[in-house]
Amino acid sequence: MQGLMMGSPLLISSLLSHAERHHGATEIVSRRTEGDIHRYTYRDLAIRARQVANALREAGVKPGDRVATLAWNGYRHLELYYGVSGIGAVLHTLNPRLFPEQIAWIANHAEDQILLFDLTFLPIVEAFAPHAKSIQRYIVLTDRAHMPLTSKLPELGCYEEIVTAASPVLEWPEFDETSASSLCYTSGTTGEPKGVLYSHRSTVLHSYAAALPDALNLSARDAVLPVVPMFHVNAWGLPYAAPMVGAKLVLPGPGLDGKSLYELFENEHVTVSAGVPTVWLGLLNYVAEHGLKFSSMRRTIIGGSACPPAMLRSFEERYGVQVLHAWGMTEMSPLGTVGVLKHKHASLSREEQYAVQYKQGRAIYGVDMKIVDDAGVELPQDGIAFGNLYVRGPWVIQRYFKDAGGDPLVSGWFPTGDVATIDADGYMQITDRSKDVIKSGGEWIGSIDLENIAMAHPGVAMAAVIAVRHPKWDERPLLIVVKKPGVELSRADMLQHYEGKIAKWWTPDDVAFVESIPLGATGKMLKAKLREQFKDYRLPTI
Ligand code: AMP
Repeated sequence: MQGLMMGSPLLISSLLSHAERHHGATEIVSRRTEGDIHRYTYRDLAIRARQVANALREAGVKPGDRVATLAWNGYRHLELYYGVSGIGAVLHTLNPRLFPEQIAWIANHAEDQILLFDLTFLPIVEAFAPHAKSIQRYIVLTDRAHMPLTSKLPELGCYEEIVTAASPVLEWPEFDETSASSLCYTSGTTGEPKGVLYSHRSTVLHSYAAALPDALNLSARDAVLPVVPMFHVNAWGLPYAAPMVGAKLVLPGPGLDGKSLYELFENEHVTVSAGVPTVWLGLLNYVAEHGLKFSSMRRTIIGGSACPPAMLRSFEERYGVQVLHAWGMTEMSPLGTVGVLKHKHASLSREEQYAVQYKQGRAIYGVDMKIVDDAGVELPQDGIAFGNLYVRGPWVIQRYFKDAGGDPLVSGWFPTGDVATIDADGYMQITDRSKDVIKSGGEWIGSIDLENIAMAHPGVAMAAVIAVRHPKWDERPLLIVVKKPGVELSRADMLQHYEGKIAKWWTPDDVAFVESIPLGATGKMLKAKLREQFKDYRLPTI
């Protein structure tokens, strides 16, 4: 027997229609690439998104066509999130931090037809445009006054002229909720980048889950500032979840330095933010150097790589900001787990609570999760056994775009490539990326633990631990450290710092001090690059 309720499809346009009707006056504030602050409301966004949709249709964009962006977090990018997906076309967010050749490769693979980009990215676009075969039209996300006077590109459209000339009248079309809505490439450390093609259904369900109190805890009482870029897994779903709950949105544009972010947090009374640990390092330094406090910020979501315990404590103890340690992947839209305490944890000491919070967190409903050994046999959830982390659910990938890499699933589960433990309360802890694990004498050493300990040293700005060849043990850990400016720090200081904190045989065999650690396009440490850099490294023979 069928239920007798409406079968309204879960479409991205419905998020915007809801915000327009019920949160029409709620603000969206953006720092523009032009340098000033722009503010308008969800009502204005809805009107402009319809104009974008009409303009795209007039330009011949059809359902399923790929429309690419190369843009910061800003209101025009947000208009494209809705204007493109709303008519059934696919929003392809390109990552400007990749090399021009990589961007061209991805644009060709995706068969992007139109590219809309921020003024700041003109040099990048000019560099890859000759190789991007499918792009027929280039549009700059600015007004006539700021359009570049000269350009190597054949013809440049002016976004503001195109949008304002289009009609704001449009009924968002209804179509199958499983239609593709947006596309994001994940640039794995090996092989070609692979496209993850989200659907309207996966995106709307992910937004519901993201907003829940034990997930990102979003509501109409919040002002949300995603530092995580809108080109990195749809800014972790915040541009969809914010209108769903009616939260104010604050979009930082290109200003991701500590000072610019801090100003926006304070001026716009931001309550929630989100970003990778490397971004928060810059912000925390700025705030500490200037003796500042956060007056409105309540929570910050930290994910993308492990949140160092020292950072989590600093946010909570010095600034009264709750850290929501989250784990996910491009292939998971991205949210999988969030580390928030349960009722039973209320009576624990603060130290015991921290021990729970350092983990990557519990699966949110919609994400099923298990750990398995190399033979695929499920391992116990005892917080000790660690194995390959598998996931499944309605916002987890089934296949890559154009079937790149073949069928990624194993008996219906997606192998994440992460190695983790899950405890009896469901808290998952990542020990490593499977390819970063250090295999010493047949036993595994997790690099994340060792990095977290190093990062807790007051003289350390950044730390990475990689495997280096060892004649007897196969591999041993090498600690690579970037010192804080003006700090004296020796190998012996660092090794001593590990004493009593880990099993002795986990202690790194050596310490290398470097000026900087290479970061990837989404702010993660590039361990593969470090391994390459240190491939001939000789450990001391003692
Ligand atoms: P991406 O698809 O580029 O966002 O990368 C996803 C990968 O980032 C995951 O598979 C993890 O290896 C890593 N990652 C994401 N969040 C965390 C976290 N909180 N702790 C440790 N690793 C993380």
